[in-house]
Amino acid sequence: MKLNNIKLNNDYFEFDEKFYQKINPTPLNNPHLISYNKLMFDEIALDYDEANSKDFLKFINGEKLLIGSEPYASAYAGHQFGYFVPQLGDGRAINLGKVGTWHLQTKGSGLTRYSRQGDGRAVLRSSIREYIISEAMHALNIPTTRVLALIGSTHPVHRYYGVVETGSIVLRMSPSWIRIGTFEYFARSKGAKENVKQLADYVIKNSYAHLINDENKYEKMYYEMVDKTAILMAKWQAYGFMHGVMNTDNFSMAGLSIDYGPFAFMDYFNINQICNHTDSEGRYSYLNQPYVAKWNLEVLANSLKIICELDKLNEYLKTYFHIQEKEYLTLMTQRLGLDIHKSSDSYATLVISLLKVLQTSKTDYNQFFYELSKCKNSEEIRKVIDISIYRQALDKWLEDYIELREFENEDFEKVQERMKKVNPKYVIKNYMLQEAIDKAEEGDFTLVNELLNIAQNPYDEHKEYERYSKATPLEFSNIKLSCSS
Ligand code: AMP
Ligand code: MG
Ligand code: MG
Repeated sequence: MKLNNIKLNNDYFEFDEKFYQKINPTPLNNPHLISYNKLMFDEIALDYDEANSKDFLKFINGEKLLIGSEPYASAYAGHQFGYFVPQLGDGRAINLGKVGTWHLQTKGSGLTRYSRQGDGRAVLRSSIREYIISEAMHALNIPTTRVLALIGSTHPVHRYYGVVETGSIVLRMSPSWIRIGTFEYFARSKGAKENVKQLADYVIKNSYAHLINDENKYEKMYYEMVDKTAILMAKWQAYGFMHGVMNTDNFSMAGLSIDYGPFAFMDYFNINQICNHTDSEGRYSYLNQPYVAKWNLEVLANSLKIICELDKLNEYLKTYFHIQEKEYLTLMTQRLGLDIHKSSDSYATLVISLLKVLQTSKTDYNQFFYELSKCKNSEEIRKVIDISIYRQALDKWLEDYIELREFENEDFEKVQERMKKVNPKYVIKNYMLQEAIDKAEEGDFTLVNELLNIAQNPYDEHKEYERYSKATPLEFSNIKLSCSS
């Protein structure tokens, strides 16, 4: 399809005007295309050729509105680091409308009513990070929002004193942009009950459509949100993903990973790793993520209590850790090539002790699983310690593991095949993104595009980038990033 034939729908204007602002994007100066994502072009049946047209650039930059597009920014609230902030919203994101089930949104498109002290812009480095990681998450089967394209510009943007960066825009796509914080906002509005009901119906329509005619649809939406969130947390933990800013305004009602900021994939395993420089207390540390998500679900229950029985919601929330732990253990045993049905008890112990020894032995988290999945026999498994900095700690664990593998007595080749499907050769670490950013800031976007390809095909060979399949170089590992974006 040609870009000019794409028609957008708007489904947000059913709400009272106090919940959004109709506003057009403010274009960047001298925009240029950096990258586009064929996978999402396919999703909306857009011709690849269109990517290099002037119109496409204008579309991403907000200079050209597609048929039916009525841009708006939405209001939400949220708990940031535990504290309630009543007025947040799309301060730099603008919703363009919906194609099929995909809600299109540009991030970095200028001021809105919700910009507060911000400038409505997004710098190149943060846009590159969000662009690539969205696709990396998807390829790892971790629910996430997606991206269509990334543009840069000469538009000056200031984040650090004396440093001039440039503005950039990512066009993001999601089946829903509603956050827990959106419910918090509606729940505090005048006429809250009707408003929350209307929002819940909207969320059900977009993300829980099978519940539309259910008698207890609001409660059930919450239950399913609990399930989805528990599973999302299991996946984050199993792949060593740290979000960094798990505020309720960054928590999707569709159970997706959204709003990528100072995130990181684990380098050398550290259970207390904090990836966000601003998070001095470690509220959003790796270990805390599943607990914080549950806390966020409690906040959601509080916003839903005017249309649901709070007791029922709280009762269901009690199942959260059961679901999260079960899914986590399933994923971890899969990553280890074991069969959870054979003797699940010892596997929980095995996983817990693995985390300890990965930490004391100083081992790159995802590289460990990849190396393990290459082993053709017990002898090769013993050699996996070679990737650790302090090898001894892993030694004993590998012996126990070999014992289990021998007990399960499965053909090594078969196990290998299974493991290779869940243990990617390439996981996008922050140092890789930084390399792509450094080049992009000099005007060379080849690495951005190559990283996109690696992110989307993490199980394939990428011969020229063999070094990316190894442990993170020590000097670039376990670094905290700033929130500034
Ligand atoms: P975040 O911590 O990135 O999730 O952002 C929290 C809030 O600040 C959201 O309401 C954002 O829309 C808003 N925000 C973040 N950066 C900017 C910016 N540069 N300009 C305007 N609003 C922003
Ligand atoms: Mg956010
Ligand atoms: Mg952000």
